[in-house]
Amino acid sequence: MTNPAENTADQALSERLGRLRIVLVETSHPGNIGATARAMKTMGLKRLALVNPREFPSAAATANASGADDILHVASRHESLAEAIADCGMVVGTTARPRYLEWPVESPRAMAQAVMTLPSNTHCALVFGREQSGLSNEELALCQRVIRIPTDETFSSLNLAQAVQICAYELRLAALAEAPLKLATDQEPLATAKETADAIEHLLRVMERVEFYNPARPKRLPDRLHRLINRSDLKRSEVRILRGFLTAIEELGQARA
Ligand code: SAH
Repeated sequence: MTNPAENTADQALSERLGRLRIVLVETSHPGNIGATARAMKTMGLKRLALVNPREFPSAAATANASGADDILHVASRHESLAEAIADCGMVVGTTARPRYLEWPVESPRAMAQAVMTLPSNTHCALVFGREQSGLSNEELALCQRVIRIPTDETFSSLNLAQAVQICAYELRLAALAEAPLKLATDQEPLATAKETADAIEHLLRVMERVEFYNPARPKRLPDRLHRLINRSDLKRSEVRILRGFLTAIEELGQARA
């Protein structure tokens, strides 16, 4: 018979891991998708999302999954990264290159600890890039945090599924550690990626209206706004305040027109 205390601990672990999603963007080699499923299953992660995979389903994916094909069967497919992460309150990008200088790049360990303190109803996505070129700057701009597995500086690019394995392991270690005491205090969900993206669009619309922003010459404003807002881990109620303020400006403009 199983010990009831063990059951509760297992349940808590699978709840903590259950809100995590691995997102693979435009994977070229189906074998990497299978190996990712295997890496996930060994660490108790279940939800895989695929953005425009080159070949899937595929025999090579199933072979490399080595028994983790249940994860492949329920993997979701998406046309864009924005769609794959729309309901997530926390989106973490990964990069092999220390190129993302304007963004504080964290270790998977620091990220995993931060993720475990999120409100339990907040979904979290970890996003992995293309084998050849990684994630684009536009895709990284959709992320609230960026992590890099610390490697030798002269040879920093891991195989995709191996990168997933290391991150999944860190998440499992963090989930196995004692539940953070502070969890009970604030359970208000973070705004989802879709809510945040809509708010940024609204902000750009109003900026255009007051002639602060010219979409014909955007420079880097949209990218920078994404970074600014995504860095703030906004809660749903905070996004509502921002949108309400923007609507008030729009209405004032209309009343004066
Ligand atoms: N030449 C590409 C390498 C992509 S490797 C580039 O320079 O970006 C494919 C994917 O594996 C990356 O997009 C990332 O998601 C993951 N990956 C590989 N090495 C990594 C590392 N050191 N840290 C974090 N993620 C890594």
